[in-house]
Amino acid sequence: MTRFEDELKNNNFVCSKCTKCQHFVWPPSEFCNKCLGDTVWEPVSKSAKLVEISSKDGKSFCIAEFEGNIRVFGTISDSLRPNPGHGLVLEYCSYDDTPKFVFSVE
Ligand SMILES: [Zn+2]
Repeated sequence: MTRFEDELKNNNFVCSKCTKCQHFVWPPSEFCNKCLGDTVWEPVSKSAKLVEISSKDGKSFCIAEFEGNIRVFGTISDSLRPNPGHGLVLEYCSYDDTPKFVFSVE
């Protein structure tokens, strides 16, 4: 179990952030993938942007982007179907074999 998964289970979305260039490193890593700087765990903003949406069996699935470069797969709790580029808010996250992200429409 990694720190990342532990925090997700507690409904905290954290990601590694570079101490040198301040950019979030995704997927989480000990070192920055741009400048090889050290990283620390930082909370990620609850606001995301919708990148892609699809639906199956009445549920909406999405790819959402945080902080300009963290892309995750999740579900949308609202029955609304916003267009790509629309704002989403992270309602909760968890971890159960894979990361779980549930969004509402902003
Ligand atoms: Zn860096």
